[in-house]
Amino acid sequence: MYGTMQDVPLLVSRILTHGATIHAGSRITTWTGEGPPRRRTFAESAGRAAQLAHALRDDLGVTEGGVVGTLMWNNAEHVEAYFGVPAMGAVLHTLNLRLPHDQLAWIIEHAGDRVVLVDGSLVPLLAPLLPALPRVEHLVVVGPGDHAALTATGTRAAVHDYEELIAGRPTSYPWPELDERTAAALCYTSGTTGEPKGVLYSHRSVYLHCMQINMAESMGLTTADTTLPVVPMFHVNAWGIPHGAFMSGVNLLLPDRFLQPGPLADMIAAERPTHAAAVPTIWQGLLAELAERPRDISALTRVTIGGSACPPTLMRAFEERHGVHVQHAWGMTETSPLGTLCQPPSGLSPEEEWPYRVTQGRFAAGVEPRLVGPDGTILPWDGVSAGELEVRGPWIAGAYHGGAGAEPERPADRFSPDGWLRTGDVGVISPDGYLTLTDRAKDVIKSGGEWISSVALENHLMAHPRVAEAAVVAVPDETWGERPLAAVVPGPGVEAVDYAELRAYLGERVPRWQLPERWATIAAVPKTSVGKFDKKALRAGYAKGDLD
Ligand code: ADP
Repeated sequence: MYGTMQDVPLLVSRILTHGATIHAGSRITTWTGEGPPRRRTFAESAGRAAQLAHALRDDLGVTEGGVVGTLMWNNAEHVEAYFGVPAMGAVLHTLNLRLPHDQLAWIIEHAGDRVVLVDGSLVPLLAPLLPALPRVEHLVVVGPGDHAALTATGTRAAVHDYEELIAGRPTSYPWPELDERTAAALCYTSGTTGEPKGVLYSHRSVYLHCMQINMAESMGLTTADTTLPVVPMFHVNAWGIPHGAFMSGVNLLLPDRFLQPGPLADMIAAERPTHAAAVPTIWQGLLAELAERPRDISALTRVTIGGSACPPTLMRAFEERHGVHVQHAWGMTETSPLGTLCQPPSGLSPEEEWPYRVTQGRFAAGVEPRLVGPDGTILPWDGVSAGELEVRGPWIAGAYHGGAGAEPERPADRFSPDGWLRTGDVGVISPDGYLTLTDRAKDVIKSGGEWISSVALENHLMAHPRVAEAAVVAVPDETWGERPLAAVVPGPGVEAVDYAELRAYLGERVPRWQLPERWATIAAVPKTSVGKFDKKALRAGYAKGDLD
């Protein structure tokens, strides 16, 4: 017997319409660097999203299922594409502008993008790729940009100006009543541990995920808030924040291309966001900036940090120096991305909360976890048994995009035979559901049959006053199979780090057999396209003899 409720599909167009009407006056503010910020209401943005849909359909021939790429920063026009493209039934393909050029071209071809929206400031990045993109038919330049640089490549694609393209078109659109399982957005993984893989979000998954991020124990943002998503809109839908905003009415402050610590501090002081979201490296930079040139960031009360493990020292520094509460979250491209978010149990003192706060947090309702041991057994949630995390749920990928016209792919190393996503992350779960990640499966150090957590060593090292950053990787060892190598970035004003001192410091915190014998001093930890520690690059550096 079925329930008797209305069968209304969960569509991006419904989120858009809700934001445009119920939260019509909420604002999108785009930072412009020198000049005054660009300001638009949700109602105005929704009108422009409709104009974009008209232009795509009527002039550029985009039909349902067509793929529209965006090579754009976090700005209001990107939000228009976030809604207009999926709402009309096409697929929004956000392009990670920090990927190596050959990967970026490969992804555009693999996805079958026929139209690419490009920020004027990113024309110099796109132009050299065009000879490798024979199937792209239309290029739409957003904002001031060098159109001639595109045509000069000999591309057959027509070049348009965004504002001219959408001008004068109707500000409403007959959004189609799609099947909620229709593809809405496409994002490729950043290839930290392998080749990029396409994750094809559906309207249903976007809708449910954005309800989840709006829950009080999640980001819980309201119309009284302004959020600054520093997390790029070109990677994992900026953690669902633009979609979530049109549901909750939270005001958006978008940094465009101004992601350096200086402009970020300026925009926080001027526009007074109450919440922000980014990977840890951004916050490390901001802390240093504020120490050097203090600004008033008192409006900011909460930041959500995820994408890689947040060092506890960073959390404490933000709290103690600036009164900013750091909320740790875990997720991946394949999980839309929200998987866990940390909210300590109620009734604890601030000190009692710390052991919880440094964990990755508790699983979102709708994300079902299990830990799988090396022999395939399901492990208990006892806070001790470490295994690979597998998840399933309505906003978790069940396969990768096979490419234009091809079947989806389910590689056995990423999906279990019974369909769970194998995250490649290793950790433990406490009896009350808090996840602590100890490593990525590919980064864990397997020493003499035991596992050493590179993340634990890094966190301890980064808490040392003479260390700015530290990354620990496995290197081959004849006796033990693998041993840790600690690559350390000295703190400001520190000329040389004393490895014996660091070893002794670690010796007070981890078992002796885990202490690294190999050390290196580096100027900076190499970072991936989305700002995470690039351990592949470090291991390659060691293999080449660069880290001896
Ligand atoms: P890629 O796989 O391309 O790096 P993702 O952004 O999808 O791109 O990365 C997801 C991975 O990032 C997770 O599998 C996990 O290893 C890591 N990660 C994300 N959040 C955290 C966190 N809070 N703590 C530790 N690792 C994290």
